[in-house]
Amino acid sequence: LLNREVAHTRVLRRYLHDGRLRVSNMFQPMSTRQGKVTGSKGKELTCKSQRLMLQTGLIRQAHPGTFHLMAPALRAVEKLVRLVDQEMASIGGQKVEMPTLTPGDLWKATDRWDTMGTELFKLQDRHKADYCLGPTHEEAVTEIVAAQSNLSYKQLPIKVYQITRKFRDERRPRFGLLRGREFLMKDLYTFDTSEETACDTYEGVGQAYSRVFNRLGLDYVRVEADPGDIGGSLSHEYHLPADIGEDQLLVCAKCSFGANKEAMAEDQTSCPSCSGPLSLTQGIEVGHTFYLGTKYSSVFNASFLNNKGQPQLCEMGCYGLGMTRILAAALEVLSLDDQIRWPGVIAPYQVYIIPPKKGSKEESASQLAEELCDIIPQQLPHLRGEILLDDRSHMTIGKRLKDANVLGYPYVIVVGKQALESDQKFELIQQTEQQTQTHHVSRTELLQ
Ligand code: ATP
Ligand code: MG
Ligand code: MG
Ligand code: MG
Repeated sequence: LLNREVAHTRVLRRYLHDGRLRVSNMFQPMSTRQGKVTGSKGKELTCKSQRLMLQTGLIRQAHPGTFHLMAPALRAVEKLVRLVDQEMASIGGQKVEMPTLTPGDLWKATDRWDTMGTELFKLQDRHKADYCLGPTHEEAVTEIVAAQSNLSYKQLPIKVYQITRKFRDERRPRFGLLRGREFLMKDLYTFDTSEETACDTYEGVGQAYSRVFNRLGLDYVRVEADPGDIGGSLSHEYHLPADIGEDQLLVCAKCSFGANKEAMAEDQTSCPSCSGPLSLTQGIEVGHTFYLGTKYSSVFNASFLNNKGQPQLCEMGCYGLGMTRILAAALEVLSLDDQIRWPGVIAPYQVYIIPPKKGSKEESASQLAEELCDIIPQQLPHLRGEILLDDRSHMTIGKRLKDANVLGYPYVIVVGKQALESDQKFELIQQTEQQTQTHHVSRTELLQ
């Protein structure tokens, strides 16, 4: 059976093109006009990440608050999904998918049908039954657990998560993917036997979140938060500090204390844990964790049989990560004014190769550029499928380099004059956060 699959892949390769990713074939309409969205008073309505993402054809607005993700943006999102999947697996998270179409009765049971009010996208089916498009899934997941009548304490904790589109009729959708009406969220739900183990679970998820942000190379602030609509007693938010952030954070200069201003008493001016001075910064909320206690399990009677065989309510937690928001917020904090910078691990492509201009003296080096597309992944397998060839050879190297700078892929290789000299050198440009470094490297050095 395995051999059959190999043979099939060979056949596919023969019929498909050579597998090279060529810029001339990419559907990523770059337009400097997109993104200059101005309001009636001529004020710019976009932020840096939205403007850059629109101008480079990563996203297109479909309707206010909804966006098309073009191919490179989707690649970045998919990489982020894989990264988050790994961290969820590391804490025993099991991936599930719950329907987006959620019955109104679930929401009426917890009163959120009314309390969440106009933020819910409500609709009716042909029988006039109420539904809403899921903005989050505490009700749905709790009902699943409640239906397991013989759940034993030995089966807990349960940790299930999904990465799906959520719908919220935001009062002010804005800043592109940062505040959409339809967006991708990772939501994890946990069910524990006691408050104590629920707190351990809560800690574990917090550590997984730090690993997510560290792997992305993002500086984040974890603050105490107001649990808001979701309810519960213990809650933290994860923020990326940025001027356009909509939340005000109070952060202690002396200790690790931080809190969302909403969660602090009006007259609290100094740090509640060390009395140090608090400073105010703006943050973009990228994640939120809640210890829920029995708030939802009591409504749906989600219980387990304890070691005495008695039914007992589950202690729950819920944990959100805004996937599309993290992408946009990362570009917001890492990018230059006119050049995108990606968290390296989720850049849509890692390597961008620029061959010489057609008709130039070094034109014969184009062959070398093509070869690099094969040799690099042979020597460095993690770069398979990660190489873009800018084959628009009617353009000067300079013009294409400018696009490469704007697109911000981590490594740009220019195959120019030096490639034809006896020591065969390439220009390797490393584009990381806030800095661009150019190295002249030999073929051997390049492949190390
Ligand atoms: P906000 O305060 O920005 O409205 P929220 O507190 O309502 O967010 P949560 O209910 O905590 O959001 O949802 C979990 C995560 O989902 C948030 O931390 C955020 O990263 C993401 N998120 C929430 N609303 C949006 C949105 N409209 N667009 C994109 N991501 C969002
Ligand atoms: Mg909100
Ligand atoms: Mg919030
Ligand atoms: Mg929140």
